[in-house]
Amino acid sequence: MTTNVVIIGAGQAGVTAALSLRDQGWDQEIHIIGAEGHVPYQRPPLSKGYLAGTEDISDLALCSTAALGNQQITTHFGVAVTQLHREQKVVVLDNGKRLQYRWLIIATGSEPRDLMVPGKELSGLHSVRTVEDADALRECFTNGGHTVFIGGGFLNLEVAAEAARHGSVTVLEVAPQILGRVLSRPAAEALAKHHQQLGVDIRCGTSIRAILGENNKVAAVELEDGERIAAARVVVSVGATARDELAAQAGLVTDAGIIVDEQLRTSDDSIFAIGDCAVFPSVYADSTMRVESVQNATDQARHVASVITKGSLEDYQALPWFWSIQGTQRVQIAGLALPDDDTRVVQHDEATGKLVVERLRDDRLVAVETINAPGPHMKARKTLAASVTHLASQVAS
Ligand SMILES: Cc1cc2nc3c(=O)[nH]c(=O)nc-3n(C[C@H](O)[C@H](O)[C@H](O)COP(=O)(O)OP(=O)(O)OC[C@H]3O[C@@H](n4cnc5c(N)ncnc54)[C@H](O)[C@@H]3O)c2cc1C
Repeated sequence: MTTNVVIIGAGQAGVTAALSLRDQGWDQEIHIIGAEGHVPYQRPPLSKGYLAGTEDISDLALCSTAALGNQQITTHFGVAVTQLHREQKVVVLDNGKRLQYRWLIIATGSEPRDLMVPGKELSGLHSVRTVEDADALRECFTNGGHTVFIGGGFLNLEVAAEAARHGSVTVLEVAPQILGRVLSRPAAEALAKHHQQLGVDIRCGTSIRAILGENNKVAAVELEDGERIAAARVVVSVGATARDELAAQAGLVTDAGIIVDEQLRTSDDSIFAIGDCAVFPSVYADSTMRVESVQNATDQARHVASVITKGSLEDYQALPWFWSIQGTQRVQIAGLALPDDDTRVVQHDEATGKLVVERLRDDRLVAVETINAPGPHMKARKTLAASVTHLASQVAS
């Protein structure tokens, strides 16, 4: 039987898994397959420095093809896996190649959720997931004009702050406040104020009826109340969905993502799923969850590399943390809060924008949100990680 590890997806999770396997002593073949034709790259700069032109494509690289080659990792870039035959432990690539695996790691990521309104097929509609998406936006922002953003989440707001440097901007959010699912009210309000100072017009509680076009190109966004907002372009970010089709077609258990256990194993013992595409049990959420963050992709990749090289291991329990750059404000979140968790502002300095907010569930600290406060963020990560280790050992004993 082959001893290969095959990794599907050459993004943050897939590449980290390949390099971690070598770091941790795996001396058998590793194959990594990536549908994109680029050297593997980081996505966060696509809505930050790369979009603003302060970083170029070489700054984005996760590692070079040569570095992977030096580690004897065989790359198949610009090629997609089209089939997974679990009985034979074989994946089929779209160039006709077949690769056999002992262990398979699925790291296929996620993709922007579709906006279900008339007009979504018009040109001039954008989302940001790939280098090509960011290039297209970079180019059209320089033409100025009005940009309408649909969705007031982290990603769209990062892009809106950049768009505001080139022209006028409106952000439409259906919920009563921006970032409502991911931040407390005080943190979200502080960021809304900052965006307004940058010239971003934020309109919450606003539903879209249609995107209107002229000559097949976006011309306006029509709201539910009939108002029309003229737009040179529209940027949509209304969430993302896991790329789990390949897994589902192969009969793995999926439910809005690939279901894995505490070791990040799928319903097939030889197959793991990590990163944006995986739904995993979490002590932080008291349930299963799917997380889209660099921390999650990286920590899960390292965990699976340990399981493969060292055999069974402790459950995956890495503390979730996240960052975002909103205009000039650095947002960091340690831990995981649910919308109903309590909120306690422990520090707020209007002049510097520094904000520290604790989130509590049944009087227990579950997350800390900070703006421009890296010290408290790092401290919170340590405190929260220690409290969960303590909690887990209590449950186990
Ligand atoms: C614009 C943007 C900004 C972000 N900013 C932040 C941030 O500030 N902070 C943060 O923590 N996170 C951020 N994220 C999220 C973070 O980048 C992702 O969570 C992370 O990239 C997930 O890594 P992944 O490897 O799971 O998926 P991906 O990076 O999406 O990689 C998956 C890869 O698999 C490939 N693939 C899919 N199917 C196949 C197939 N059948 N065959 C071969 N290849 C396949 C895809 O083409 C893709 O290249 C951002 C994301 C985006 C898009």
